[in-house]
Amino acid sequence: MPRVSYVNGRYVPHGEATIHVEDRGFQFADSIYEVIAIQNGRLVDAARHFDRLERSLRELRIPVPMPRAALEVVTREVVRRNRVGRGTVYVQVTRGRARREHAFPKSPVPGLVVTARPTRPQPAALLAEGVSVITIPDIRWARRDIKSTALIANVLCRQQATEAGAYEAWLVDADGMVTEGTASNAWIVTRDRHLVTRTADHSILCGITRLAVADLAATQGLVFEERPFSVEEAKRAAEAFLTGTSSIVLPVVRIDGAPVGDGRPGPVARNLRAAYDAMAASAAA
Ligand code: PMP
Repeated sequence: MPRVSYVNGRYVPHGEATIHVEDRGFQFADSIYEVIAIQNGRLVDAARHFDRLERSLRELRIPVPMPRAALEVVTREVVRRNRVGRGTVYVQVTRGRARREHAFPKSPVPGLVVTARPTRPQPAALLAEGVSVITIPDIRWARRDIKSTALIANVLCRQQATEAGAYEAWLVDADGMVTEGTASNAWIVTRDRHLVTRTADHSILCGITRLAVADLAATQGLVFEERPFSVEEAKRAAEAFLTGTSSIVLPVVRIDGAPVGDGRPGPVARNLRAAYDAMAASAAA
């Protein structure tokens, strides 16, 4: 079945899904995006994703391309036309096409791109064995709360992780505290069952999976604690894990080559993953 994408008002064959060279998304990464998981053909946690998309637009003063209800219709229509049962849908809004100049155009017409694709199930070994991370300096800009497409620093850091044989890079600020991963949020579990992740200020992207896992903490008898933690604290933690739309919840068993706990996925991360999977499955039923 041919893949169909939505570009600036039209559903087009994916091979013809192109934008103009003077689109500011291309010229300046002057654009934001969302990636939403699809299960049983339905969007997982749609309301929170569209809330965050609107927030990113507000923070950058990019006009909304269409009212929220219409945007949701287009997003679901792309999923439907591609017959994606399990996968992801990508929504990008740019400040539109304009003669190249840094300052905003006078009357911007935002650009909108929506693409969807099926994904393979996550390899079972990732959950069963856990994953490794390396820690490297966070070289990104100071507004990581905005889901901007300006991802070059994330790309470079992820490439470094890949070349080191690690699943993810945990990024570290000037004070030695972990901010987050290149495409995921970072968590530790303390010995007294506190679930610790960085405060959702300007230093990290407030992940939608992060919010869902925070909601689940109480059901697992865990105390949710938002604060920065250091690389040293993470290495000494009872458990560590990461969360994100693509990764879901994955145990982190090695940090810079050193085992976390006994080097095996711990019960807290495994139980949170099971609870998350059950919640997502029932929401998409
Ligand atoms: N931080 C960064 C930098 C990310 O790119 C992502 C993935 N979108 C996340 C955290 C996790 O966010 P979410 O759970 O919404 O996918």
